[in-house]
Amino acid sequence: MPGFSLELDEDQITLRKWLHEFATDVIRPAAAEWDEREETPWPVIQEAAKAGIYSLDFFASAWEDESGISLPITMEELFWGDAGIGLSLVGTTLGVAGLLSSGTLEQIGEWVPQCFGSQDDVHLAALAVSEPGAGSDVSSMKTRAVYDEATGEWVLNGVKTWITNGGIADVHVVVAAVAPELRARGQASFVVGPEFKGKGLAQGQKFRKHGIRASHTSEVVLTDLRLPGSALLGGKARLDERLARARERQVALDRGEQVTSVRQKGGQAAMATFESSRPAVGAQAVGIARAAYEYALDYAKTREQFGRPIVQNQGIAFMLADMKTKVDASRLLVWRAAWMGKNNVPFLAGEGSMSKLYAGETAVDVTEKAIQILGGNGYTRDYPVERWHRDAKIYTIFEGTSEIQRLIISRAISGQQIA
Ligand SMILES: Cc1cc2nc3c(=O)[nH]c(=O)nc-3n(C[C@H](O)[C@H](O)[C@H](O)COP(=O)(O)OP(=O)(O)OC[C@H]3O[C@@H](n4cnc5c(N)ncnc54)[C@H](O)[C@@H]3O)c2cc1C
Repeated sequence: MPGFSLELDEDQITLRKWLHEFATDVIRPAAAEWDEREETPWPVIQEAAKAGIYSLDFFASAWEDESGISLPITMEELFWGDAGIGLSLVGTTLGVAGLLSSGTLEQIGEWVPQCFGSQDDVHLAALAVSEPGAGSDVSSMKTRAVYDEATGEWVLNGVKTWITNGGIADVHVVVAAVAPELRARGQASFVVGPEFKGKGLAQGQKFRKHGIRASHTSEVVLTDLRLPGSALLGGKARLDERLARARERQVALDRGEQVTSVRQKGGQAAMATFESSRPAVGAQAVGIARAAYEYALDYAKTREQFGRPIVQNQGIAFMLADMKTKVDASRLLVWRAAWMGKNNVPFLAGEGSMSKLYAGETAVDVTEKAIQILGGNGYTRDYPVERWHRDAKIYTIFEGTSEIQRLIISRAISGQQIA
């Protein structure tokens, strides 16, 4: 296992420089337009595919880096460019993470390449977990998957909501209840290919949002969606085994016996996927926060009031000092968690959640301070900081709200069932 190091190797320095150039030359100039249009920026995704940034090979090599740091570097640079476009470029990896956490090697080999498509035919993927009645509490999911013994098919019904790339993705990974009485332990993931669009899977309402408006967010409606048995990720034998264990556990619990806790053993399809992606999501927030800090610092050095640059006022300079400190602290937490995750070091104090919590709240705070430093200009759409502030807010909400991150950390450090 490589030790934790803050020193980037040559490959990581090259990667960062390359992505920074792409973010500067391609993403930033397009950001305001796609935010206003509230549409998926297909031309930018296509350009990223041509440059080799939107591709399976690219994300696989970032993923494979043993230090764990290449993925957060990638996220930070792309989201420094723009968070809405950034999410359009990396939203696919949510679906990929769903495949990797639950699929067999064969399913991963078959489906992951289809999530990205090719340079000439770009595809997107989505991960559909959340429902109108099941956001933070994923265990109360109502979408049902019922096995049809006669045909060997799975039949899915339900409504998923707030799904990134929902309905426009070529590959949807859908989490559904197969044994609702077992709650989170009775869920399974299914892969849904493009042939089912309009044949059981449909896009519902497209949401108009506060921020990350270039990223498509929609309901996904499943109506008698009949999937072949092979769509069940992990396969039927593994599912039957898992359900049998969960039922035994339930019987033991009903008898009042001690059983190993859900959190020690894991076992929730959706939660496993989210846990592995948290440091990368934190890195996205670091990118937004750094963009706002850099912009505000430049502005404060050139904007003059009372005959001197505003940065010469302690009130402004101290704000910038706090902003820089928090951005760097966020990055350190993110890199530590990414290194731990990659090297299977257990998150005994909820370090993955810590990184996402702190980086998300930092992004909101730093972008708000950036507006303050820009004054009236900061409040207008002629300057990017108001967009960054709108974008930052999602980082205290999705992939587990700040309260849920605090819940995970507090349970981890106290060993208590804090409600
Ligand atoms: C733009 C966007 C993109 C998204 N993309 C996806 C996606 O691709 N796939 C997907 O499956 N989902 C996605 N989501 C859904 C997202 O993960 C949920 O919105 C999130 O988990 C919160 O759920 P909720 O909105 O139902 O809030 P709720 O769970 O209703 O929470 C409301 C408030 O109550 C608090 N709260 C809830 N329970 C507790 C508790 N036990 N203790 C203390 N406070 C609590 C929350 O922290 C929050 O402040 C997306 C959401 C958005 C907005």
